[in-house]
Amino acid sequence: MKLTVLGATGSIGVSTLDVVARHPERFEVVALTGHSRIEVLAEQCCRFRPRYAVTGDEAGARQLREQMAAKNIPIEVMWGEQALIDVAQLTEVDAVMAAIVGAAGLPPALAAASAGKRVLLANKEALVMAGAVFMAEARRAGAILLPIDSEHNAIFQAMPAPGTAVERGVRRIMLTASGGPFRTRSLDTLKTVSVEEAVAHPNWSMGRKISVDSATMMNKGLEVIEAHWLFDLSADQIDVVIHPQSVIHSMVEYLDGSVLAQLGNPDMRTPIAHALAWPERIDSGVASLNLCQIARLDFSAPDFVRFPCLALAYEALRYGGNRPAVLNAANEIAVEAFLERRIAYLAIADVVRSTLNQVQDFAVPDLESVNMADALARQAADKAVTRMELRAA
Ligand code: NAD
Ligand code: MG
Repeated sequence: MKLTVLGATGSIGVSTLDVVARHPERFEVVALTGHSRIEVLAEQCCRFRPRYAVTGDEAGARQLREQMAAKNIPIEVMWGEQALIDVAQLTEVDAVMAAIVGAAGLPPALAAASAGKRVLLANKEALVMAGAVFMAEARRAGAILLPIDSEHNAIFQAMPAPGTAVERGVRRIMLTASGGPFRTRSLDTLKTVSVEEAVAHPNWSMGRKISVDSATMMNKGLEVIEAHWLFDLSADQIDVVIHPQSVIHSMVEYLDGSVLAQLGNPDMRTPIAHALAWPERIDSGVASLNLCQIARLDFSAPDFVRFPCLALAYEALRYGGNRPAVLNAANEIAVEAFLERRIAYLAIADVVRSTLNQVQDFAVPDLESVNMADALARQAADKAVTRMELRAA
């Protein structure tokens, strides 16, 4: 199978290449993309010898070209947004791992779907922003959409038959959530949460943006919206269950009362290997699950006061239209401002709420209105950030 890996230098990209390297007879890497970590991209190009590499800007492309030329490695290096779309649509490519973070990942992921590729979708923001467009394009082009997000991959595994929820006899799904680093922290100390505390996830090692999203539980909110599109379920059919051990990756409840779960160690190489090999199974390098050592699995209901972002995401999904796109854009701006230490942790939810209150809805979520909602939300969120900015002491 010939692969393009979008976002190869990130956490999911690196895990993908780890699985690929275990099966050289099975996978061939045709294109790799990375935004700014050129050194990492250069090492990956040496190891996997893709025909194409894409960087974020021209300087990065020049640097990579020089390094490859010095090592006599033949490669075509491109840069920029159109190049991402081009490598997602290459005729010789069978499957595209969509692992760019945020809205920047939408155009190439959508291009892969439109080209009828097998799309391994990690970039949940693409579905949150443009789920209707994305699913319609995938259907039209006959693309196979395989979820990489561990929860959605678990649901996919527990609900293999195609069709609507009714046809499958599904009553609801339960997305598990670890609750992140602040599940039990006292509410009045959340005011002073540092960036380091917010990105230190108890169970998963991930990129910085999704780590903050996990701390606020916006990540689970985005995943509720993602599940709505992937599995054709309403907000009322998608529940969230706090499960701190992250061993059950999600569950499907059927009309007869049966509940099917997918379990495993919290390591993204499992869903990645599943999607790469589907419908076959391959070794992922993940250790066997030792349930006796884990000893117990705990569950509780999510706390919407502690995690207002989760409530905002459910509201956006219920409202429909472009509210999820507005939610996503506002969250991206807020998380970036938090990571730059411009706003406090609790202000993330305030920026998102304020943006949702200000940006009007566009009834038809076609690509043009999605992009307009995204742009307007970014402007409104930028203003909200400025209002809430921490004054330097
Ligand atoms: P990361 O920050 O580690 O990596 C992001 C990748 O995207 C990098 O390769 C980076 O170069 C690239 N990138 C960033 N901005 C870009 C831009 N403007 N244009 C082009 N490329 C750009 O992130 P990650 O943790 O690997 O997450 C990637 C995606 O997968 C996210 O959508 C995330 O929600 C999803 N996801 C991640 C995990 C995980 O365990 N890390 C789990 C589930 C879902
Ligand atoms: Mg997830």
